[in-house]
Amino acid sequence: MRIHTEALTDEERTTYEWQMWIDGLGEDGQRRLKGATALVSRCGGLGGPLCYHLASAGIGGLILAHAGVVQTADLNRQILMTHDGLGKSRVESAKRRLLELNPRLRIEAVPENVTEDNAGALVGLADIVFDCAPVFAERFAMNRACVEQGKPMIEAAMFEMEGQVTTLIPGKTPCLACLYPEEPPAWKRQFPVLGAVSAMAAAIAAVEGIKLIAGFGQTLAGTLLYYDSRNMTFQRIPVARRPGCEVCGMLCDEVGRAEDGVGTTRQSDRQERSAYMPTAAGRPSDTNRCRSSC
Ligand SMILES: [Zn+2]
Repeated sequence: MRIHTEALTDEERTTYEWQMWIDGLGEDGQRRLKGATALVSRCGGLGGPLCYHLASAGIGGLILAHAGVVQTADLNRQILMTHDGLGKSRVESAKRRLLELNPRLRIEAVPENVTEDNAGALVGLADIVFDCAPVFAERFAMNRACVEQGKPMIEAAMFEMEGQVTTLIPGKTPCLACLYPEEPPAWKRQFPVLGAVSAMAAAIAAVEGIKLIAGFGQTLAGTLLYYDSRNMTFQRIPVARRPGCEVCGMLCDEVGRAEDGVGTTRQSDRQERSAYMPTAAGRPSDTNRCRSSC
């Protein structure tokens, strides 16, 4: 992942001193964070806390894409929204809260959801993409743009007390269309949400992005992390590319030659991996995991 770096001011060194003590992050990683711009699709129950963690960690720029106005039913989970913002633009509320935390942030507030029409341009402005949208059309549009532009996408979803996160890197891991060839028929736009559960997925996704940008640690590339907070169980599920994927299939030969192993599925071990196909917004089911034919 190519990220340009920006020098830190003395004030930024003081702000981020405690996290720069982390082995592998350091000042170089912090400079990379400052030089990075992330696109976040929707800044609600999932994207809101994600943005807050990226902002507090010192990412340089955020592009927030979210249509609509703050509604009463948002306030159990959308922590960037406030009661006095009811009826006002969601994305402007989010921008205001984030700048209160980190006034150095470069924020582009886009009062639109991601569509096939704007996905390419929005992804083109970012170094990394975070998919926090509850609508498959948006997720598929961003996935296609990320594959076309070679941009990593951190994929986060939740349902009721469950959540899942994986890191998608074009040419090295499955893309979203490998995991979801089409919108799951049981998917519903409205579903049970507890803010703390969506915030868990958000925090994990933020850590994934920070590691990827700063260049340390091991990401979830090639692995889907699933948790059930009802009983606090966590599972790591290997995920594989789908041959013939209409989005990333043209990258297959390139992947077959890759030797770096980050999320790459060699022919010999593809038979052992399972693709993952939730039926709802992040809801897993043993019955709908299918064996990959990769
Ligand atoms: Zn694919």
